[in-house]
Parts: sequence; C-alpha cells; structure tokens
Amino acid sequence: MRRSQATVVAAAALAAAVVLVPGAVPGPTTAEEQVFVVGQAIYAADEDNAQFAGATAPTEDTACTDSSYAIKTWRVTGTYNWFYNGEGAPPAVASTALAAITASGDTVGKGANRCGLATSFTTAYKYGGTSTAKPQVASDLTCTGNDGKSVTGWGALPPKVLAYTCTFFNAKGVVIASDALIDNVVYTWFTAKPANCAGQLYDLETTMTHERLHTAGLAHVDQVRSASQTMTPSSAPCDTSRRLLGAGDYAGLKAAGTVR
Ligand SMILES: [Zn+2]
Repeated sequence: MRRSQATVVAAAALAAAVVLVPGAVPGPTTAEEQVFVVGQAIYAADEDNAQFAGATAPTEDTACTDSSYAIKTWRVTGTYNWFYNGEGAPPAVASTALAAITASGDTVGKGANRCGLATSFTTAYKYGGTSTAKPQVASDLTCTGNDGKSVTGWGALPPKVLAYTCTFFNAKGVVIASDALIDNVVYTWFTAKPANCAGQLYDLETTMTHERLHTAGLAHVDQVRSASQTMTPSSAPCDTSRRLLGAGDYAGLKAAGTVR
C-alpha cells in the first residue's frame, strides 16, 4: 500500500506541473508558438487504495445539486479531432471500445448531462479514423513530445492509474493535441455492464468521459464532497452512473470557455 500511495502522490505532483516542450513550429519562437503540456490521471478506487477509500457511492445523490468544478488554463475551441489506435486493446472490449470512446467525446462536446441542462455546447469531439501513431504518454506518465495529432490508445500505466491524458496547448490556451493512454495490463474493462459485475472491472465510457473533460480543461474535484461528479480523481469498479456530466462538470465546461 505504501508504494502505491507514493505512486499516486508522485503522479499528482506530475499532474500539477506545467512543462515547456520544444515548439512544434521550427524557426524563431515567439510566445504564441510555445507549446505547453500537462498530464492528468484517473485512478482506480480499489479496496487497497486507501487514499480514495471514499470513492464508492455517496449517501445522497448530489449529481445535479453540486456545481463544484476546477479548471485549468486551456480549452477546446471548435473541433477536437482525435484518432484511435486499437493496438493492445483488451479482447473483451476490442470490438466495442471505439464506440464507447466516441460516445464519451460526444458527451463532452455537446454537454450531455444527467440534469436536464441544455446540450447546446458548440464544440465537436470528432473521430478522425484509426491511426498507427502512439499516444504520446509514456508508461511512467511522461508526456512525450508533440506530434500535433490526438491519439487515444492502450498501454501500460503505473499502479492505480486507469488512464492518463497529456494535453498540449499554446500560449493562448488553445488545445493543439490531447492524447489518452488507457491501461491494458492491470485493469479489465467493459462497455456494457455485466449482470454480476465484480472485481477490478471498470467502465470504459465513464473513464473516457473523465479523460475528455481533462482535454476540455477540467481538473479534479473533491473525491468525497463531489462524489457524483465525473471529475472526481478516482472511479469505483462497475460504476456506470457518471458516463454523462453532473452539474459541476457541466458548469466547469462552461467556465472553461467551451461554450461560444
Ligand atoms: Zn483525472
């Protein structure tokens, strides 16, 4: 347990860091050509992850009464084009993962929510096709370079990390690319919840809605106080209740400047 907690702390510290990487544009660099990158995780709330022990169902459903959110300095404007690399996809979801990931993007692009709020957001999270390019997320949670292409795919991540997103943005805060890596070693996934869901089995759509909200500029809210929002740091196994946005997630998207 000690080792895993240390890992979480290290990952959290990394997630808070803003790292300047070489600009994608060759030649003289102006402030507007600088590229920044931030990585953010979603964690598994399994039984030996004490830091997130409160991650199971809240006693009261606050999905639509809790408007808490946290935002970063970047935003998606217009259309976010993303590609899918299915290499290493777990067999259980290999044929259905793309549809689940696409649904997650649509949820964030339109603002689809659990609270009857207008789905009038004008961003589009557009699937651009398959790609053999790798997500620029290393297994040690380093964001590696910037190829200007947003790729979602599968690979190894540190213990407790379900998925990790690296978002590249310019000095104006506009997202240039955002890559997501989903664990295919430690955790198992479903896209349709099995009747007797148990064990370390996680909902891919919920996880990717969370990751796409990172792409949109959202950060984490309090695990316990905002347990019904999609942007809690960790997810519980078998939970599908947060595929769509809660009131806080929705308010965060508005505040991040997604709505034009
Ligand atoms: Zn996260």
